Amino acid sequence: MRSLTDVSQHGAPSPPGELFPGDDPTAVAHRRHDWTSSPLGPIEGWPAALRAAIRTVIPSRIPMLVWWGPELVQIYNAPYAALMGDKHPGGVGQPGAECWAEVWDDLAPLAAAAWGGAATYSRDLPLLVRRHGFDEETSWTFSFSPIRDGEGAVGGLLVATGETTEVGIQGARLALLGQLGVMSWTEAATPDDVLRRAVALLAAAPGEVRLAVGRLRRDGDGPLATVATTGLADDATAPGDPRLLDRVVADGAVVVEERPEGWPGTTPPPGRAATVTVLHLPIVDRGQDTTIGVLTVGVNPHRTLDDGYRSFLDLVARHVSTAVTDARVLADEQRRGEALADLDRAKSRFLQNSSHELRTPLTLIMGAHDALLADAGLAEEQRRHVEAAERATLRLRRLVDGLLDVGRAEEGGLDPDLVPVDLGRLTADVASMFRSTVEAAGLALDVRVADLPGAVEVDPEMWTRIVSNLLSNAYKYTPAGTITVELAPAGDDLALVVTDTGIGIPADEQPHLFTRFHQVPGTSARTAEGAGIGLALVRDLAAAMGGAVAVDSTPGAGSRFRVTIPHRATDAPAADVAARVRYRGRPLAVEAGLWQGRSAPRPAGDGDGDGAGDGDGAGADDRILVVEDNADMRDHVVRLLRADGWPVEGVADAPTALARPRPLLVVSDVMLPGDDGIALVRALRADPGRADVPVLLLTARAGPEAAADGLAAGATDYLVKPFDPAELRARVRAHAEAHRRRMAAVADADGRADHLEVALRSSRRIGAAIGILMERLRITEDEAFARLRKASQDGNRKLRDVADEVVLTGVVPAG
Ligand code: ADP
Repeated sequence: MRSLTDVSQHGAPSPPGELFPGDDPTAVAHRRHDWTSSPLGPIEGWPAALRAAIRTVIPSRIPMLVWWGPELVQIYNAPYAALMGDKHPGGVGQPGAECWAEVWDDLAPLAAAAWGGAATYSRDLPLLVRRHGFDEETSWTFSFSPIRDGEGAVGGLLVATGETTEVGIQGARLALLGQLGVMSWTEAATPDDVLRRAVALLAAAPGEVRLAVGRLRRDGDGPLATVATTGLADDATAPGDPRLLDRVVADGAVVVEERPEGWPGTTPPPGRAATVTVLHLPIVDRGQDTTIGVLTVGVNPHRTLDDGYRSFLDLVARHVSTAVTDARVLADEQRRGEALADLDRAKSRFLQNSSHELRTPLTLIMGAHDALLADAGLAEEQRRHVEAAERATLRLRRLVDGLLDVGRAEEGGLDPDLVPVDLGRLTADVASMFRSTVEAAGLALDVRVADLPGAVEVDPEMWTRIVSNLLSNAYKYTPAGTITVELAPAGDDLALVVTDTGIGIPADEQPHLFTRFHQVPGTSARTAEGAGIGLALVRDLAAAMGGAVAVDSTPGAGSRFRVTIPHRATDAPAADVAARVRYRGRPLAVEAGLWQGRSAPRPAGDGDGDGAGDGDGAGADDRILVVEDNADMRDHVVRLLRADGWPVEGVADAPTALARPRPLLVVSDVMLPGDDGIALVRALRADPGRADVPVLLLTARAGPEAAADGLAAGATDYLVKPFDPAELRARVRAHAEAHRRRMAAVADADGRADHLEVALRSSRRIGAAIGILMERLRITEDEAFARLRKASQDGNRKLRDVADEVVLTGVVPAG
């Protein structure tokens, strides 16, 4: 084995086999090369400096090359040969300028500099190399250093190199994919916009894609339309044989097209035939998994379309698909949002128009009621009817006004009419309208209004509605305890606080309370009545006066609503607003009274006592039980049925109804506080003693599913409110009578069963008597029977009685 110092001994010639050792193809090519006719002459004559350089280059794992002599004759190692493509093995012994003719303009100055004695270093130098039959974009990092002979003169160059093409390409591809990837987040635009943007990004990366055409199907499934192009002289030359494009759309497959003529505007690569490879890639809607477009890309003619390139282009198409899908989904969402908003506006308009339409007839009805009630000669019974009608009309008017205002507030049209008001007194007045109702329910009402120094500018009607809505809610959701109303200055504001000790509101519901039509699911209230607009109105009315409302509530402990409005003190005398307050405040107070189980407000001295819980004292099985929480409605139904001669009992809720004895028939509202009418039906059906009682449901919800719920639970029939009284009476009669007949039939069947039993029993006794006779007299069965019959005929007695006598006394009748 030779030592390292041998290598440095320049002078000693050595045989060619040792200079190019091993059997790798490069070394073999060097050995076989005809060096005698090359400028270097036979190997044996090569100078020591060249030999030393070769000994460095050949075993190296780094691609290395020696250029020797002024012709730069090439000697290189195997790693270098691997980079040369089809230039190897021809490059062995070839002058550098010849081997690298296509890039020699770039390399010659560097080589000259190195020959001059200065080593060079180039990093990622782009070179258009023709090593695979075409001009290929490549990049290289390399150094040229001079090799000096014994006298110090430069005899050749040592080249160490590395190809960095792949690194550069991958970097550029990653950058492009990155840009395409974030597109979906940054472009809030239509699918067309997104595709245009994607094509623009491709245009900025001509190294990756020479041309691009983006096409999308119109309306998602229509014909393809070109949306954007790049790299074309004009759009008319866009590649895309319609049959090929159809295949992409139909199969979602990638189709490759070779265009022999090349592209106008694209210079065909000098080393390659003027064909351009085009890929038609599907643009897929990721949500629906359908091909909605085609992205056509032209392959860079200076790159090989290898697996890496192919999968890169696939990734490009995927990114574009994702971005286009995102845009499509976003556009759909927006369209849906707009459609919903339209619908909402239409709904509001409809609510407003119909509310408005209802006001006129309501006003007329109320006028008629007033006129009737003013008539002193009105009989008591008629007066009660009119009063009930009036209360119902008040309620309707309140709802209609509420809907109108909610609609108006939405359009920003709630204009307060500010007048000087004694706000403490106004607040106390409104509260007092609720006092009797609240106290009758066993609740305390605590009103504490601060003594304000002077009048305050507010809209008295708005204020009245705020106070009465909060009070009516407090009453509605407070089974026991105290309701407190406070009014006091709070900084520059006035604060109204209504506190109750009621059921409270879950924390997650509190933010939604002031949204119109929102109701907390599953709350137990004094009544099931309510449209969910009360608090929305409070908020809108407070806002209209420059104020706000807030809630603070603990489930099970109570709620506290706080309304603040700017304290607009004034020296002007307070206006008389009593009439306006009555107009606005009374409806809710009257209505609240009606929710109370027992007391539809009625004139004093009315001893008729047909309110909730009052019965007619008839036999339980004959009674019709009416279950309805609204006292006026309950009275109405009770009266209707009584007029037909039925004994009727009215109750306000399901538990009371269930506590009553078995009735003939039940008429029940579906909407009841607590357990509803459907729960009542279920409870009855589950009770063997009452499972057969017919139940007629009254439902406010029209439509098949409302009826289906009730019937599925076992209701016998249902009527939709508002119902025709005649129809209610007819149905009650039909069901009650059918039920009675059924009960009679059952009783009849029971009676017949009794007879049968008697018969069976006597035949058993006759059998026993025959047995005794057969035993005693040693006669046959027929003879024994003949004996019994004869005794019966002779004594003119029933056969059974004779048999009884035999069995009980053992006496044998005479033969
Ligand atoms: P509603 O007509 O249903 O009473 P509101 O807008 O007045 O409509 O109230 C909305 C919901 O807020 C009610 O359905 C109820 O669940 C809840 N709520 C309002 N006030 C109270 C209160 N004082 N205590 C408990 N819950 C309340």
